[in-house]
Amino acid sequence: MDASAELADTTTTVCPECGALLPANTSCHDIFGQLLALEYQYPQSFGAVHHLMVMSYNVQHPGAYTDDFWNKTVAMLNDVVEQEISGAQLRKRMQHELAAHQGRMSIKIKGTPERAHQHAWTMRAVDVVTDDPQVYIERVWQWARSIVATLEQELQV
Ligand SMILES: [Zn+2]
Repeated sequence: MDASAELADTTTTVCPECGALLPANTSCHDIFGQLLALEYQYPQSFGAVHHLMVMSYNVQHPGAYTDDFWNKTVAMLNDVVEQEISGAQLRKRMQHELAAHQGRMSIKIKGTPERAHQHAWTMRAVDVVTDDPQVYIERVWQWARSIVATLEQELQV
């Protein structure tokens, strides 16, 4: 990157939903794609934390979801973090939940994000990016715990 580009105000962008500071022309959805790409490359990472990663991402990017879906995702994330539910157990649980709500729970809504910037997240998708499959697993857990901690703290205020 040359000096003039660095001085320009167009080198970074802010995610309208989670508030992450990102390189220009990058979105959290791109970052989400990078995380998925690592999971495809390392099936052990996919098996260990895929659902945890998706839930963490969804909680921080609620714009496309109903309150009902968001609240349920937060509740599930809480359980997973508190009980340290592992990959295989979590998959079973998710399947059970989805089957229970089949056809009754509306997941997607249209419109603009309502919860943008409402939470002071300490970790975001961009902080999870790594090439190392083991570091990835640790970071996804760290990310999920940070989300639960942030929401708990905000409830106490
Ligand atoms: Zn974001």
